[in-house]
Amino acid sequence: MDRSDPSVEKVIKKFFGSESRTILLTLDPQGLIVSSNGGMERIFGLPGGFSMGRNIFDFILPENRDRLKGVFETLTKKSPPESPQCPFRKETLNFRHSSSAVYTMACFFSRCGGTVVLIGETRRMSDSEIIIRMTDLNNELASLSRELTRKNVELERANATINRLLNTDHLTGIANRRALLEFLAEKIEKEDELPLSLVMADIDHFKKVNDSLGHSTGDEVLSAFGKILSGQVRERDLCGRYGGEEFLIVLPRTEIHEAESVAERVRTTVEEAETGDPPVRVTASFGVAVSIAGGSSDDLIGRADKAMYRAKALGRNRVVTQD
Ligand code: GH3
Ligand code: MG
Ligand code: MG
Repeated sequence: MDRSDPSVEKVIKKFFGSESRTILLTLDPQGLIVSSNGGMERIFGLPGGFSMGRNIFDFILPENRDRLKGVFETLTKKSPPESPQCPFRKETLNFRHSSSAVYTMACFFSRCGGTVVLIGETRRMSDSEIIIRMTDLNNELASLSRELTRKNVELERANATINRLLNTDHLTGIANRRALLEFLAEKIEKEDELPLSLVMADIDHFKKVNDSLGHSTGDEVLSAFGKILSGQVRERDLCGRYGGEEFLIVLPRTEIHEAESVAERVRTTVEEAETGDPPVRVTASFGVAVSIAGGSSDDLIGRADKAMYRAKALGRNRVVTQD
C-alpha cells in the first residue's frame, strides 16, 4: 500500500496520531497488553507506556468483565476449519482506571494469529442513555446524602451522650464539678444574671454513715441528697455534686435572702427525709454567699465555703450566710 494514500494517512492518524482518542491494543490470550497506540494512556491521563504489560481486565468495570471473558473465550478457542480466518466480536464496555471517569467504549475485537486486537472508540451516548446514567447518578447521590444525614444524626447523638457523661456525676445523676464550675463562670460574667447567689452544702458526719452502715449505704444517701437538691431548685438554677459529700446550688438572678430560703428549705427536707432500709437520716450544713460586682467564681466559692464551715462550727444542721 502506498504510504501517501490519503485513506491510509487517515487510518494512521486516526489510530496513531498524538491526539488519537482511539484505543488500539494487541493482547495475549490472557488479556495482557502486548502493544498499544497510547490511546488508553491519553484517555485516562496516564504516563506514556503505562498500559504495557498490564491486563485489559483491570481497565474494565467489574460488571463488564464477564462479557469480556466471553469475547476472549470465543476468539481464542480453536476454530473449526469452516470458521472465518479472522473471527471478530463487538462489545460496548465501560472502561475506567482507578478513580478516573468511566468511559463507555465501542470495542471491536479480532483474533490475528495468537493475539487479540482491540480497537475501541469513545461512544457518544444517546439522550436516553444519558438520562438513565444521570438518574442512576442522582439516585446514588440521594442515597449517599441520606446516609450522610443518618451518620450526622448518629454523630450528634453520640456528641450529646459524651457531653451528658462529661457533665454528669455518675453516682447522683446531677451536675458534676466540671459542669458546676462552667455554669458558674458563664453566669457570673453576665450582668443580667446578677446578683448571683451560691449555696454550699456539706453532709454532716458523713464519715460515720460510711463507717457504721457501709459505703454502699453512704452512696445511697448521696444519691438521695442529690434528688432532694434537684427537687428544690428552679429551672434556671443548677445544683450539682462539687466533690465527696459536698454540693453546690448556683442561683442566678437571686438575692442573698432568697438563697437563704432555698438553703433552709433544702436543710429541712434533708433533715426530715429517710433513705434506705434500714432507714438512715442525715443532716447537712449550708453556707450562702452572693457575688459582688466584678468578683470571681473562686472568690464566691471561697466565701460560701467559709460560711459553711461556720455552720459546722456553730453545731451543724444550719444555714449560715457570709459575713
Ligand atoms: P463533717 O460533718 O465535718 O462534714 O464530717 P464528715 O464526716 O462529713 O466529713 P469528712 O470530710 O471527715 O468525711 C467525708 C466522708 O465522705 C469521707 C469519705 O469517705 C466520704 N465520701 C466521699 N465521697 C464518697 C462517695 O462517693 N461515697 C461514699 N459512700 N462516701 C464518700
Ligand atoms: Mg466535706
Ligand atoms: Mg461532711
